[in-house]
Amino acid sequence: MSEKEIQQRIKKMHGLMLRRFGPKFWKSGKRKGQLREPGMTVPFSAAELHSWVMAEVGIYASPCPFCGTPIDALSLSLDHDVPASRGGSLVLDNLVCCCLKCNKLKGSLTGDEFRGFMLYVRDLAPAAQSDILTRLNAGAMGMRLRYFGRKA
Ligand SMILES: [Zn+2]
Repeated sequence: MSEKEIQQRIKKMHGLMLRRFGPKFWKSGKRKGQLREPGMTVPFSAAELHSWVMAEVGIYASPCPFCGTPIDALSLSLDHDVPASRGGSLVLDNLVCCCLKCNKLKGSLTGDEFRGFMLYVRDLAPAAQSDILTRLNAGAMGMRLRYFGRKA
């Protein structure tokens, strides 16, 4: 894992955030180029995100705060502790580094709600555990299809 790879990945994640939360414009039709949704401002640069991730996780593996799976700068995913869809702010203080699997399952739960849910699931019989997690994964997949369309 090189410093350059890390930098590229974080730059890409920052770009995705700008696209997801930033202002949206009409792409065609009479209103082409006009503002469609004001969106939110991502209040930090890619370089600031980079130093934040390095301070949080660094280049060595550290455990996912929800499930304990080791994550590092190249495998982590970024999630909002209080989801933006529920009024959470986009500031760095509201970001959590976790594994991709937890990020998908967490959906629009807050970090505390998801931690509680994981504790609850952990104590279930294995068959019940896998049933719930399979259904949640399927639901997350359906949401992605609806959001990104067939191609994603
Ligand atoms: Zn995890």
